Amino acid sequence: MAYWWNQKNWISRSVLGVASVVAAFVPAGMARADGEVNIYSYRQEFLMRPFLDRFTRDTGIRVNVVYAKKGILQRLKQEGENTPADVVLTASFSRLQALKEAGLLQAVQSDKLTANVPAQYRDPEGHWIGLTLRSRIIAYAKDRVAMGAIQRYEDLADPKWKGKICVRTGSHSYNRALVASLIAANGEAATEKWAKGLVANFARKPQGNDRAQAKAVHEGVCDIAIMNTYYFGKMKFNKKNPEQREWAAGMKIVFPNQGDRGAHVNASGAGVVKHAKNRDNAVRLLEFLSDSHAQELYASQNYEYPVKPGVGWSDEVKSWGDFKADELALIKLFELGPAAQRLIDRAGWQ
Ligand code: FE
Repeated sequence: MAYWWNQKNWISRSVLGVASVVAAFVPAGMARADGEVNIYSYRQEFLMRPFLDRFTRDTGIRVNVVYAKKGILQRLKQEGENTPADVVLTASFSRLQALKEAGLLQAVQSDKLTANVPAQYRDPEGHWIGLTLRSRIIAYAKDRVAMGAIQRYEDLADPKWKGKICVRTGSHSYNRALVASLIAANGEAATEKWAKGLVANFARKPQGNDRAQAKAVHEGVCDIAIMNTYYFGKMKFNKKNPEQREWAAGMKIVFPNQGDRGAHVNASGAGVVKHAKNRDNAVRLLEFLSDSHAQELYASQNYEYPVKPGVGWSDEVKSWGDFKADELALIKLFELGPAAQRLIDRAGWQ
């Protein structure tokens, strides 16, 4: 697999301005060659490499990937028809919907995608699909919170948790989607009341990412955190930062709302770029990614859940137990996003 650009270069080039970015970015003839597919990816290389290599072995189609932390929407806009990109992979479906709304993705009709990806996890108009799922769960210090004391997201607003809760900023897409799911379930007025109750229970001003909340629980700053499921696995088996294993070891996780609508679920996903030069290969890649082999690898690499029903879960993910997922369509979470953000602002969840 060829890598035309690494993350560091991407970021450093980005600050040089549009002209140099585009000039440096399109290797002559590369994007138009047959037998290739070019990806812009927010997902990290270690997640992708095992099954992208397999895709090339199976199909003979070479895969070129640009890994980025940000800026794909702006880049696609700047490149317009000249973009070398065929496929975008993102860690959150909401970015795909934003790309769609900016006119940067195209609709794909594929029986295979329809069969592999349940309807609630893809764009009804076919511009993107979810590929891996994660639940936004509640984690708590097992020595300070009784098992069963928290069973629903709604419980987090209970004044008995005053000064006990840590969570990242409300405007992060993970939390905005969670709030959107609460609006869908309980309405805006009740959710605003909930958000104000939640904010009143914060142990500190929101800061850091999901893992920073687990660290805070470990350090006794708070007893309860909200985080995506995969971070629990990533901390538990962390090789680079062994201290994160202790953060996970001291916590238990709860899949909320098992007695009613189910736990909120978010998705990573992919879409085909509007001006893709290798459109057929791009669709083939999406189909491959939605199929059992890639699904199993993709999900297990990051302690996520496969979007395709019936695909096996990794042993660690299995150990967390089965759970009922809120089946609200991802598109609804996006549609309720602006209302959710306004509500988050009103509640002071900064
Ligand atoms: Fe994440």
